[in-house]
Amino acid sequence: MSVERLVVVGASLAGLRAVEAARRAGYDGELVLVGDEVHAPYDRPPLSKAFLDPDGERGAGRVMELRTAEALRDELRVDLRLGTRATGLDTAAREVLLGDERVPYDALVIATGSVPRWLPGTDPGGPDGPLEGVTQLRTVDDARRVRDALEAGQRIVVVGAGFIGSEVASAARKRGLPVTVVEALDVPLTRSVGAEVGVACVGLHRAAGTDLRLGVGVAGLDEETPDGRRRVRAVRLTDGTTLPADLVVLGIGVRPATDWLEGSGVALHDGDRGVLVDATMATNVPGVWAAGDVAHVENPLFDGEQHRLEHWTNAADHGAAAARHALDPAAAEPVVTVPYFWSDWYGHRLQFVGTPRAEEARVVVDDLATGGGLVVLYRREDRVVGAFVVDLPRVVMKLRRRVLDRGPWEEAVAFATDAGTPASR
Ligand SMILES: Cc1cc2nc3c(=O)[nH]c(=O)nc-3n(C[C@H](O)[C@H](O)[C@H](O)COP(=O)(O)OP(=O)(O)OC[C@H]3O[C@@H](n4cnc5c(N)ncnc54)[C@H](O)[C@@H]3O)c2cc1C
Repeated sequence: MSVERLVVVGASLAGLRAVEAARRAGYDGELVLVGDEVHAPYDRPPLSKAFLDPDGERGAGRVMELRTAEALRDELRVDLRLGTRATGLDTAAREVLLGDERVPYDALVIATGSVPRWLPGTDPGGPDGPLEGVTQLRTVDDARRVRDALEAGQRIVVVGAGFIGSEVASAARKRGLPVTVVEALDVPLTRSVGAEVGVACVGLHRAAGTDLRLGVGVAGLDEETPDGRRRVRAVRLTDGTTLPADLVVLGIGVRPATDWLEGSGVALHDGDRGVLVDATMATNVPGVWAAGDVAHVENPLFDGEQHRLEHWTNAADHGAAAARHALDPAAAEPVVTVPYFWSDWYGHRLQFVGTPRAEEARVVVDDLATGGGLVVLYRREDRVVGAFVVDLPRVVMKLRRRVLDRGPWEEAVAFATDAGTPASR
């Protein structure tokens, strides 16, 4: 079936790269891009980095638009539906439901990403309504809230010592503000990159003067209602401590935005309800493809391992591939990429390549305390499958190549050990 109308749902990175790739591939048909945010696609990583920075030269407080609405409409000839939520999918009729409106498609790319989790009683859409002073950090409006609190020198408590929460703490420390990070695990990041990295990251927090509380959960939030509106006053911890707070930033993970797909026939993951796709980004339903944070993708590089990544490069690369394949399914090939993400904490650059699902994680360079870098390598059988690196950007890209080439473990260890010595840096 030839594609006369390609519909992309989700107008952020993966969705944008999908429409760009469609036109780049010479597609001349109708191209519809639906997004529930009112903004044209913008870049999220800077929201917890440069946007919060006090230093104006680094893009502080400025939104990094990836493409303007005008450019999408005029240059890419996109039928752009911003501020519009997809509410359902009728795969039999090949229609996306936008409330009462039905938008037909020949091919569909699902790029609805992920939504952050709330603590009980804090979801603005919940029965108690919004609790002021509690935010997540996903959108530009969230980032403005955090930036305003930083500018005002407010007391900030971050819940969750993951990457985004840690970047918020880093922004607070850069301004000399006290900040507390509360983490339920004894060692942060254990689930995403392993305890070896988690231990090193604890060191980064402590060296920067962040008050990191490990192995302790949130028992509840104290609130006040000065003018009839609920407002947070403090965070109560499971160890009995109470932390006064003007702003509580939640960094407790995300879930795929797939409520609108329930009952559509598109296969979803049993656990987190992300969209299941094969290595070409195809779902189980003909004509329907998915990419980015929303999708669990099979990666041929790691024996068909399925992973749902919340990484910028993954969303960009897979969004483009999904559109190309949607337009020409016969030419669809497995996408072989090495997952990659980065994060910036306290002036350090953290980078990860590959997969952390391994039989062994070995710290091969451990010089953070003396101003050097860190390299942790991940092994499966006799090959290197991943690397976590701090402050050695040239090393990480070479390790990425070794992961792609299914390089031997011992050679990777020798390379990283040598490259991490002060003489080689
Ligand atoms: C603060 C922050 C910092 C980050 N830093 C890094 C970093 O340093 N390095 C890194 O690798 N990654 C980072 N990331 C992750 C990266 O930004 C994401 O992986 C990327 O944005 C995923 O793109 P996506 O298009 O798949 O999903 P999203 O960016 O989540 O976009 C999905 C879009 O779909 C919309 N949508 C959802 N449901 C519907 C619906 N039913 N109808 C219509 N529209 C809908 C959403 O509103 C959203 O606009 C960061 C993310 C955040 C939030």
